[in-house]
Amino acid sequence: MNESTGFLNETGVIIVDVQADFTELKSGSLAVPGTDARYIETVENATCKFSEQGLQLYFTQDWHPAEHISFYTNHPGIQPMAAIEIDGRSQIMWPPHCVQDTSGAKILITVPQSAEIVRKGMDPKFDSYSGFADDGGHKTQLSNLLQRDGIKKLIIYGLAMDYCVKATVLDALKAGYKVELMVDLCRGVDPATTTDAIKTMEAAGAAIVRGD
Ligand SMILES: [Zn+2]
Repeated sequence: MNESTGFLNETGVIIVDVQADFTELKSGSLAVPGTDARYIETVENATCKFSEQGLQLYFTQDWHPAEHISFYTNHPGIQPMAAIEIDGRSQIMWPPHCVQDTSGAKILITVPQSAEIVRKGMDPKFDSYSGFADDGGHKTQLSNLLQRDGIKKLIIYGLAMDYCVKATVLDALKAGYKVELMVDLCRGVDPATTTDAIKTMEAAGAAIVRGD
């Protein structure tokens, strides 16, 4: 094995929540600004390129039961996007999104046979921005898969930069992975929290990469 093959074998790609409900393209219930056809095509092409280079792909997929705690509709009298306190945690009240087995939960990027899909947010009691674990500390499959595959470095991008991408990047850094954030392959819910998220990820040790 030469050095570059070893490097490639140790690099994984996490594509965060590029799902119909988070996109303008599919008129999603929680569409992130700037997620038009061109954005999806750019992410598709970049992902395809990484796959052709032999990098292992891991797709996270928000996968909520209808009674999920993050849906404002499950909290009578609460407005969408309000932040409420639940068991000492701040929880944003999102519109219902990515409900299990609905078209809104569909991943819009081609998932190669060799790729893994890591579902999150299945517990109705806990939200799960991070691809690694939910707010209750329950781990997804992601850590085990990365260990199984001998991954040391992660390239991360997707939706939304200020929530699920940020949480996934910070957990990856905490777990000791080197992280490259592909900032132009991400979109954020809100400009202010997105700018903040980039600063936070960079301060935590992520390399911020421009271009695709
Ligand atoms: Zn969600």
